[in-house]
Amino acid sequence: MPKKQFRTESKKLLDMMINSIYTHKEIFLRELISNASDAIDKRYYRSLTEAKGGADRSDYEIRLSADKASRTLKVSDNGCGMTREELDSNLGTIAKSGSLDFKKNSDAKDEEQIDIIGQFGVGFYSAFMVSDSVTVETRTAESETGYRWSSAGTDGYTVTECEKQDVGTVVTLHIKENAEEENYDEFLDEWRIRELVKKYSDYIRYPIRMAVTKSRRKDGGGDKPEYEDYTEDETLNSMVPIWKRSKSEVTDEEYAAFYREKFYDYEAPLKTIRQRVEGTTNYDALLFIPAHAPLDYYSTEYERGLQLYSSGVLIMEKCKDLLPDYFSFVYGLVDSADLSLNISREMLQHDRQLKVIAKAIEKKISSELSGMLNNDREKYEQFFKAFGRQLKYGLYMDYGAHKDLLQDLVLFGSSFEDKKVTLKEYVSRMKDDQKKIYYASGDTAEQIKLLPQVEAVVSRGYEVLYLTEDVDEFALQMLRTYSEKEFANVCQDDLDLSSDEEKEALKKENEECADMLAFMKESIGDTVKSVRLSNSLKNHPASLSSEGMLSISMEKTLNKMPGKSEGIKADLVLEINAEHPIAERLRTLYESDRDTLAKYSRILYAGARLINGLTPENPSETADLICDLMLG
Ligand code: ADP
Repeated sequence: MPKKQFRTESKKLLDMMINSIYTHKEIFLRELISNASDAIDKRYYRSLTEAKGGADRSDYEIRLSADKASRTLKVSDNGCGMTREELDSNLGTIAKSGSLDFKKNSDAKDEEQIDIIGQFGVGFYSAFMVSDSVTVETRTAESETGYRWSSAGTDGYTVTECEKQDVGTVVTLHIKENAEEENYDEFLDEWRIRELVKKYSDYIRYPIRMAVTKSRRKDGGGDKPEYEDYTEDETLNSMVPIWKRSKSEVTDEEYAAFYREKFYDYEAPLKTIRQRVEGTTNYDALLFIPAHAPLDYYSTEYERGLQLYSSGVLIMEKCKDLLPDYFSFVYGLVDSADLSLNISREMLQHDRQLKVIAKAIEKKISSELSGMLNNDREKYEQFFKAFGRQLKYGLYMDYGAHKDLLQDLVLFGSSFEDKKVTLKEYVSRMKDDQKKIYYASGDTAEQIKLLPQVEAVVSRGYEVLYLTEDVDEFALQMLRTYSEKEFANVCQDDLDLSSDEEKEALKKENEECADMLAFMKESIGDTVKSVRLSNSLKNHPASLSSEGMLSISMEKTLNKMPGKSEGIKADLVLEINAEHPIAERLRTLYESDRDTLAKYSRILYAGARLINGLTPENPSETADLICDLMLG
C-alpha cells in the first residue's frame, strides 16, 4: 500500500501539532468531539433538506471508549461520515476545510438553520499531540463500503477499504507512552475523560456517552457485603447550556448555582446579566457581577476575562479582549456561532466579530449598572463598595477616554448626607452662584469634615465632595469638568468666595505682615513654600493648603506607589486665620519675642500637618516644643 504524502501546509501544521503549539494538549478531545458533533449536524441537516425523513435527533450520539491495555481512545459518532475522496481531501490537507466547504455550498437561508463549528481545518491534527498513530474509519449513508484512514504522523497516510456496519466515523487514537515531562496515561483514565468533557464540551448538543465502571453490592451473600464492578452507559455532558434556555425558564437559584460552581465563589452573584444578540452579530452572553471582590482582585495576579464558547464549545477560558479593564470584575461567558474554533489567541485578538461583541458587552454592563444605580441604590452601593475603585481607575485610564461611559457611575462621599452621591446629584443641588464643584481629600470622611477649609465652605451652604480614595483626585483631574463645571479643591484652589472688600482687606493685611510671615516661613524651613494670612478657616487657627497641580493627598498617593522614594512634594502653604486671636498674638511676638514666635510657627505647622492627615516631620521636636510652652 503506497503511502500518500500530506500536502506541504498540512505537513507543517502536523509538525507543529506533534511538537505542540498548544500548551494544553488536552484540547484534542474537544476538537474531536466538535468534529463529531459537526458531522452529526451535517447528517441531520441533509436528512432534513434532502427529505429522506426518518432522522430522529435523539438517535444521534457521540461515544467515547478508552482501553488501557491497548492504549487506545476511541471517539465515535453516527454523523455524516466521509467518502474516500472526502477522507483524502479533509484529512490530507488543511487548506481545504470541510466545514467551510459545506457552508459555502448551502445557500444563505439554509445556513441560518445550521451552524457548524470551525472554519479552519486544523482541529483534527491536534490528535497527534497525544497519539503516535491515528486511525479513522468512516462510512457515509450512500456507500456500502467503509474506508480506513491511517497515519503515524508526518511521513504520510494510507486509505484502505474496510468493513463498517454503521454510518458515521470512529477515530481511534493510539495514545503515546508517557514521556519524562508528559503524562499521557491520563487520557485513558475514565475520570480524566469525564473531566475534559465537562470542561470543554459540556454543552455539545448531542449526548457524549461512555461506558463507565461502577460498583454495586452483590445480591445475597452473608454478613460480609460483597461488591462487584459493572459497566453502565453514562451521558457525560449536560447538553443544554443554561444561557441557551429561555430567560423565563431559569430561576435565580439556578443561575447562582451555575455561577458558584463555575467561578468558585461561595456567595451568590450580586447581579446576573443575560444578553442575546441576533442580527449581523450573533451571540449569547451570561454575565455575573460578584457580591464581593475576590481576594486577589486589586492585585496584579488577578486576570480578567470571559469564557468564550463557539456554539457551545469552550474555546478560551479567559478571553481578556471581551472585557475592558474597568469592568474586569465581571465574570461570565460569551457563546457565539460566528466565531471559529480558532487556532491561536493572537488570531482571535484580531477577530472583528470579537471586537463587535466586546463593544456591545461593554455597553450592556454600563447600562445594567446605571439601571441598578437608579432603581436599587442599596445594591448599587454594595457593588460600588467592592468595585467602585475600578470604575474610578477607568475614568483615569487612557487619558479620560472612557468618561462618557463611567462618569455617572461613580460615587463620592459628601457633606450633604452620610450616603455617597453621584456627580449628577451634586450638580443638581449646586447653588445659583456656585461656579465650581467643590471637593476635599483625606483619609476618611471624618477627617475631611474637620478640615478648617471644608468647615468654612460648608458653613456658607455649599456642598463638598469627600474624596477618600487615592484614585479619586486623579480621576477628577482627568475629568476636568462635569456638566461644564470645573472641580475645585477647597484646600488648594482659589474658591473666590469672599467679597471684593474682604479680598482687598486680606491682601492689605498680608502685605502689612509680610516680614513677620517671611520670618515664620524661615523658622519652619523649606518644607513650606510660604506662610500667609487667610480668611477661609472659620474658627480654626491654622491649616495647610497647597499650590500648583499637586495636592497634599496626591503627594501621599504618589509616594506610596512602588518604586517612589518619598521624592514627590506638593507645594505647601501654612495658612493662619487672620480673624483668630492667634494672628494678633503672632504679631505681638514678632515685635517682642522672636524666639517664641519661631517655636509657635513650628508648632502651628506641626498641628496643621496633623489636621491634614500628615505626621509632623519631627514628632519628638514637636512634643518637646509643646512641653516647653507648658513650662512657660
Ligand atoms: P475543521 O473541523 O475545523 O474543518 P478538522 O481538521 O478538524 O477541521 O477536520 C477537517 C475536516 O474533516 C472537517 O471539516 C470534516 O469535513 C472532516 N471530519 C473530521 N472529523 C470528522 C468526523 N468525525 N465525521 C465526518 N467528517 C469529519
